[in-house]
Amino acid sequence: MNNVEKHVLIRNGTVVTPETVERTDVLIEGETIAAVGPALSVPAGARIVEASGLLVFPGLIDPHVHLREPGGEHKEDFTSGTCAALAGGFTTVLAMPNTQPPITDQETLARTLALAASKAVCDFGLFAGATADNATEVAGLGEAVGLKLYMGSSTGSLLVADLAGQVAHFEHYPGLIAVHAEDEEAVAHFAEQGTTQGQRRPPLCAALAVARALVLANHFQHRLHICHVTTGAELALIRDAKARGVPVTCEVTPHHLFLTGTDEARLGPLGRMNPPLRSREDVEALWANLDGVDCLATDHAPHTLEEKHSPTPPAGVPGLETALPLLLTAVHDGRLSLPEGVRLTSAGPAAVYGLLRKGHIAPGHDADLTLVDPDAEWSIGERSLFTRCGWSPFEGRKVKGRVERVFLRGQEVYAHGEVLARPGYGRAVVISRSR
Ligand SMILES: [Zn+2]
Repeated sequence: MNNVEKHVLIRNGTVVTPETVERTDVLIEGETIAAVGPALSVPAGARIVEASGLLVFPGLIDPHVHLREPGGEHKEDFTSGTCAALAGGFTTVLAMPNTQPPITDQETLARTLALAASKAVCDFGLFAGATADNATEVAGLGEAVGLKLYMGSSTGSLLVADLAGQVAHFEHYPGLIAVHAEDEEAVAHFAEQGTTQGQRRPPLCAALAVARALVLANHFQHRLHICHVTTGAELALIRDAKARGVPVTCEVTPHHLFLTGTDEARLGPLGRMNPPLRSREDVEALWANLDGVDCLATDHAPHTLEEKHSPTPPAGVPGLETALPLLLTAVHDGRLSLPEGVRLTSAGPAAVYGLLRKGHIAPGHDADLTLVDPDAEWSIGERSLFTRCGWSPFEGRKVKGRVERVFLRGQEVYAHGEVLARPGYGRAVVISRSR
């Protein structure tokens, strides 16, 4: 990133949008996309990037990551996590507040935003976290991209399981509420039943919480986002609510699309996350109902191997560096179209969170572009990962499609296995308040 070019022409790439797949040029001017079209003329002094044979995606947006800073830097921090993002083709990540300390007030939000601004190599936004008694204070945190509300307990201390606490947040918070929808009473009820995470947190836990969140969103006409949907039952509830005009959106994760409960038996603690891996039938229901899903989210949640192999393994798996190759492999296998993949990974999350200038390859938008070789075949795990935890639940899986270059606001920030951006290049996203 030493030479700052005013113009960059990405030439002859196959540009993918939610509507089209088209061989065309993209002209970058400074931080912005200036033009998109075939055979664009080359401004004097422009750098030309030959993209023939490559797919050109809008820089991917991951609306659900855990970057562990502050408090968990031994497993990830803003630099290592955002390097993993760029290596996976993501140019924007929205980070969850269950850090130590958690982001629950003005002071923790300001301090964590400053950390991210000095250390991130990709663009970022931060969630605020709901607690039993911060409904008034958190409602004033305008710099957060949304409020994360844990209806059931997971990693960290954030939890608002009782109705009074949930109602207080729906009454006060002015923006989007993203829920971890597992019902705490159901989680407690099933906790001692069975030996796998899937048995201890059966689909009923999720469906109960989703139903309750939808009722609250409808009652308060409040913007709701359901994180990591894992079952057909949840999707049916959400589809029905959308049809009735409830302002709700939802996301799915790659691990819930590409792994099943059988994999948990094989992977042990490395296949454990909340909500857990599900049956083949539920995985098929997710694939069959992707049109009812608004975005893909990795729920990148790194833990060290030592922690994972301890007597009390924490829930969560990393995902930033494997999501796009898995999706492209699904495209190759005919399970997904390229436009659908782009809708789920850029236009979709940009729309859900109202991210200004993000998510589209169009004039006036940030020049965030991910260039991919769709034919490169490789095995996950054959080269080291940028995530500090250093492992993947998909290790050994053969995939087709490799990230070659990434541009973020006009700068080449990743190329051929190397992160070129320096810590501090990442910038906080701007949210449209009219969403
Ligand atoms: Zn999460």
